[in-house]
Amino acid sequence: MQVVCIDSKGHRICELEYSITSNTLESKNWVQITRLQDIRPAQDADFTKLPILHQGFLDSHMHPSWMAKLLSQIDLTQKPILQIKDEILSSTKETIYGFGWNEEFHNIPLEEASKFFDSNLPQNKELYLFRKCGHSAYLSHTAKKKLNIAHSELIKDDELHKIPSQKITSLEFIENFQRVLLKLKQEGISACCDLLLSDEDIQRLSNFEDADFDLQYFGDIHDLERFQGLSRKRTPYVKFFLDGSLGSKSAWLSTSYNDDPRNKGIQIWSDDDLFKKAKEALDQNFLVAFHAIGDAALDQALRLGEALAPQLEKVLNHSSQKLFHRLEHLQVCRDDQIEKIKKQNLWSLGLQPSHRVADSTFALNRLGEERCLKKSYRLKSFLDAGLKISLGSDAPIVSSNPLQCLKASTQDPRACEKISLSQSFELMIRSGRQNTGFEVKNLGPQSRAWLSNYE
Ligand SMILES: [Zn+2]
Repeated sequence: MQVVCIDSKGHRICELEYSITSNTLESKNWVQITRLQDIRPAQDADFTKLPILHQGFLDSHMHPSWMAKLLSQIDLTQKPILQIKDEILSSTKETIYGFGWNEEFHNIPLEEASKFFDSNLPQNKELYLFRKCGHSAYLSHTAKKKLNIAHSELIKDDELHKIPSQKITSLEFIENFQRVLLKLKQEGISACCDLLLSDEDIQRLSNFEDADFDLQYFGDIHDLERFQGLSRKRTPYVKFFLDGSLGSKSAWLSTSYNDDPRNKGIQIWSDDDLFKKAKEALDQNFLVAFHAIGDAALDQALRLGEALAPQLEKVLNHSSQKLFHRLEHLQVCRDDQIEKIKKQNLWSLGLQPSHRVADSTFALNRLGEERCLKKSYRLKSFLDAGLKISLGSDAPIVSSNPLQCLKASTQDPRACEKISLSQSFELMIRSGRQNTGFEVKNLGPQSRAWLSNYE
């Protein structure tokens, strides 16, 4: 494929021979495209001056404020248990937060994780160690005692609210937040939706501006009473969790887990409470967003769509940014639900193709073959049905690098859900723009080169 590079005045600088056609997407070149040395430029061009992916991507679902807090925690990702133990022992803090363990790495079943940590980690400190999905956590004996938790299992979605939030000063939080945005910009991202902020986070960021980066906040529905004076421009949405995650076996499924036949996951809201709370938010002209990973959680969102249709429509008509209410994740979705989403015409979907790749170690076990192959991690089916979609990463749960998202969406081994490179670009930029209200800005020369190829 010929990629035309254009400078900031629109003059053609040169052309690259770039192997990014769908035939060669599997090659290593593609994933490492952010590195200058992986590019094979025309001999006469000076590419050292050009960043490969400058700003321009929109990430419609990530958690930069959470990432900022994680910079002040112990990173548990891919670490042997002895190293985790050493880091905990060497910390001077009595209360320790950590994030990122997963049972596959330590080669233990999820059900055994709590016992495994009990026998390997010091119990005299207050430990709050979150699984990489954020939907379950290990607590030490000291921490459980403090919170009056008597059982010996992991803490899952319905109990997570008992965990006190980590104490971090406003200054440290803002400094960390700036470091996160810098990293995102280096990856070519110029705007994102932060999918969940507490009232405190929103207050801390209320005066925060970054000229090169657009932010849209989703407030936590539990803080609704404190959101009275908030600008709907920066914080147009409030978010509800309708279930947990597949990794934690807490995503709410209509039929039970393949590897846990008595479990269908966790229902967080009764219909009555959910509809009542959603109505309160809609009455204040907030758009609503629903985390729904399992199909039973999606059923509940769609029941709400039916029950509150007039209220939901009223807010859509009121929104100056022409945004839609949002359904997030939809990792398990049946054909009849696709029809309903289309019919209701209230929703845009926030999808994260990288989850398909990250979950591939357990998805088949959790869901069984039929459901895993035909009803999960759908993308092309949504696109073919004409639904509004924007893509995101869900960082820090998976990498924020947009190339991972592009790769995951174009490399699905199931032909029925795989999309083309140009469709993927379109979703990450143009459709993302429609569904988030962001403009792509400060396009660097290389971004122009990318854009010229798909537009
Ligand atoms: Zn998320």
